[in-house]
Amino acid sequence: MTDSILSQPYFHNEEAAYEFVEARLWPHGPVCPKCGEIGRAGRLSGTSTRIGTWKCYGCRKPFTVKVGTIFEKSHIPMRLWLQAIFLIASSKKGISANQLHRTLGVTLKSAWFMAHRIREAMRDDSGSILGGGGSIVEADETFMSGKKGEKVVKAGHHRSKVVSLVSRDGKTRSFHVANVDADNLKPILLANIAKDSHLMTDGANHYKKIGKEFALHETTNHTQKEYAKDSKVEGVRAHSNTVESYFGILKRGIAGTYHHVSEAHLQRYVDEFDFRFSNRKSLGVDDMTRADLLLKGVSGKRLTYETTRAR
Ligand SMILES: [Zn+2]
Repeated sequence: MTDSILSQPYFHNEEAAYEFVEARLWPHGPVCPKCGEIGRAGRLSGTSTRIGTWKCYGCRKPFTVKVGTIFEKSHIPMRLWLQAIFLIASSKKGISANQLHRTLGVTLKSAWFMAHRIREAMRDDSGSILGGGGSIVEADETFMSGKKGEKVVKAGHHRSKVVSLVSRDGKTRSFHVANVDADNLKPILLANIAKDSHLMTDGANHYKKIGKEFALHETTNHTQKEYAKDSKVEGVRAHSNTVESYFGILKRGIAGTYHHVSEAHLQRYVDEFDFRFSNRKSLGVDDMTRADLLLKGVSGKRLTYETTRAR
């Protein structure tokens, strides 16, 4: 029997939690957020000092690893942040604020706040491009059912629309869009997929013209119940089943865990599902590694009004 992941000291001991975060965010030693000195600071100790406080030898100012991260100005213990990060990173269909509230023993308001901040850390703002070198990127769109009671504007226009780009060898990026048409989709595909990629979609009209922008575009005709076929490329199957399986997880998660989300919050949630699917088990990423990757994303996130108002 192996030890439970939950028995790790950094989930229980505040000093161990800080050391764990510091080791990941400061691989070359403590970084002073005021003057930028690296590795020139001393850990402050003593009963009147908060755990995790350092003093810079350059500017003499105190600081902690929380500055400039999603943890900034939060009074929630670091070990609980690490527990929340692990739970969110390892729950394939997400975890509700209510569940976090019960499991972590924090208030529902704190749980809600933590989950939204952790979603910020999961957001991919690397600006990297998917595909390239002839590799396959699947694109498709789906319609999410909205929150109960949300106004139905007019038939066919009441549901939230999400376009997802899934690189078969990993990265997934999704966008909440106002409408599914060539005008909305073209800029998204062009900005996020390398032109020398092999694009695969269904036969929808809005992909036809966009498809010409890429090295190769192949479609399967879903209306004719054609879901996979041999590609023009030897040994490759043309299909958009990877993005379809992503939609399966996304929809089950949004409906089952979050009980539908409003249009206003949808992008945050798809960021969350994108992160887990980009780092999924079938690509060789285990739960601990995924949580570690999430932790590396806590720095330098723009903290929006939405997530900062509830402390
Ligand atoms: Zn300094």
